[in-house]
Formats: sequence, C-alpha cells, structure tokens
Amino acid sequence: MDMKTLLLTSLQALSKQHTLTTLGDRSSYLGASDIGTCPRKVIFERLHPGEHDLATLLRFQRGHMAEDIVANAMIAAGYDNFDRQVEVIASGTTPIKVHIDFVFTSTQPKIKAILEIKSVSSLPDVPYASWESQLYMQMGALKEQFPDYTIKAAVLAIDLGSGEVGFFNGYTPEDTMYAGLLERASTIWINYQFMLIGHPVKPATEPSPLCGYCNHLTTCSRFAAEEVPELGNSLVELQELQEKEKSLKNQIEPKKANLFQIVEKAGHSIKVNGSILSKAIRSRKSFDISRLTAFLADQGHTVNDFQESSSFSFLEIKKSKAIKPATTRKAA
Ligand code: SF4
Repeated sequence: MDMKTLLLTSLQALSKQHTLTTLGDRSSYLGASDIGTCPRKVIFERLHPGEHDLATLLRFQRGHMAEDIVANAMIAAGYDNFDRQVEVIASGTTPIKVHIDFVFTSTQPKIKAILEIKSVSSLPDVPYASWESQLYMQMGALKEQFPDYTIKAAVLAIDLGSGEVGFFNGYTPEDTMYAGLLERASTIWINYQFMLIGHPVKPATEPSPLCGYCNHLTTCSRFAAEEVPELGNSLVELQELQEKEKSLKNQIEPKKANLFQIVEKAGHSIKVNGSILSKAIRSRKSFDISRLTAFLADQGHTVNDFQESSSFSFLEIKKSKAIKPATTRKAA
C-alpha cells in the first residue's frame, strides 16, 4: 500500500470512529451546523453518505488539532472551568443535538460561555453567517437547558498555516433567531423523513461559495442551469481583490526596485528599522538549447521527441455575451 492510500484509508477509519464517539449516529438528528447549511446538502449527506477525500480528512484533523491547542493553552493559563464537546438537546419535536466545542462555566455569577473553534485557511474579516447561525442555535439550546444562567458565545478562528488568529466575541441569545432556526430545522427534518420513505421531495438548495466542497454538486439542479446568481457576491469579491492585487503590485514593484538600486549601488547591506536589506543572488540551472539541439540531432532526435504535455486547471473568468433583445418590425 502506498503512503497516500495508507493515509487515506486510516484517516477515513479514524474520522468515522471520531464522529461515532463524539457525535453519535448523525443520521438520527440534526446538528447546529446542519441547520445553517444548504438543506439539500444536509439531506443528501444523510441519504447518500460518501467517503471523504484526503484533503477533507486532513482538514478535519486540522480542526481537531486547533481545538486541542486551545484546550492546552487554556489549561496552561490556569482555566479548569470548561467542558469540551458539550452535547445539548434542543426542545421540540425535531431531533436536534448541538455539540459545543467549549463551554466555560462560572457559578458566581452564573455564566455559561460558549467558545466555538474554527480552523481556517485564511481569516475572514467578519465571521461567516453559517458560524453565527451555529452559535445562535447553540446559545438557544443551552439557554433552554440552563435558564438561570447568562449565556454568551464567541468564535475563535485559527489559521494554523499562517499562525493568525481572529476572535469574534459578544454574541448573546436571540429568541427570534432561535425560533427561526428551529423552524428551518423542522422543514429540513420533515423533508428528510419524506425522502427516506421514497417520497418525491425537492429540498431547498442554497448555492454558496461552499458548493465546491459539496459531494452532491453534480446532481444539483442549481448547477444544471447555466446561471447561478447566488454566487454573484463571491465573484464580485474575487474581482475586487484581483483589482487590489494588481494595484498593490504596481505600487510594490517600483518601491522594491528603488531599494534594490540603493543596496546595489552601496555595494553592502544596509540596516533599516531593524531589517537588513541586502543584494541576494540565487543561481538556477538552465539548458543550453542550441548545444542540446546539436547533440540530439547527432543522435537522430529533436528536443520535441522528449517533450510531454501536461494539463493543469485554473479559474477562467470571461465576460458573458449580452443577450440582444429581439427586434420587432412594425407593420407597414
Ligand atoms: S451544490 Fe450547493 S446548492 Fe447544490 S446541494 Fe450542494 S451545497 Fe446545496
């Protein structure tokens, strides 16, 4: 078995075991994060659970690591008033179990503070709507269970790659929000039950930038159509960032060139504000194509004989053609 397959199969087994011990049978209830997610995705993941790929499994491991790091830091800081993976069952007829990463409890005054950990690959400026609905669901359920406690919540987003951390604090329970989420959960659950018994139900679809991680995109009606207006904001955000990147590059390059010119002329390193600016030289090997061509020709070959094409993929964005309005002729 090669290393990649070994990693894949063992992480798949570990992930199933971890889900079973921490979350139980996920097909028998809805979790807090399910309720803010696209209803079709939630239902299809229960009806047709697939195996996770290596990238997803590694992302899961990164999430567990982030939680362990926070737990260790809290213990080192002297906090011992927290519980991890706290399960709370919401009231009502829909089976809803929320699992909270951390609940810190104080008895004088009576406070229960939720801390949700999100492992991210880049920090958002503001918390995602799905994180917030998860928090409102958790706070609502915790408030039902502990009505005499003040409930609070926060999200700690950690980028393990860059070491950046974002703390989004100050959430308190919102009864209307909680009621809306319970209603939404009830619709998802009823549709799921109908589909389990083979009833033809079309659950709501909510396209978002996260559709790329959905295992049911290829059968999703939203992507059978050419137009997906719900992704408009994501595209605008990307294009705005690309514009900024272009303009930043235009500002960075001349500044870099100016400083390089100074260092080069000075002929030695210069210290500026605690940084050392120096001229670095790296060498890279390149082929002498004319000699190589001559050598290969002697052997009866050309460079083309040794060229192979490989493909790569990227996102191409082109302006779509505007649809011309149909012309009508006036009767003479
Ligand atoms: S592709 Fe997007 S809209 Fe379709 S089911 Fe998946 S998450 Fe929902």
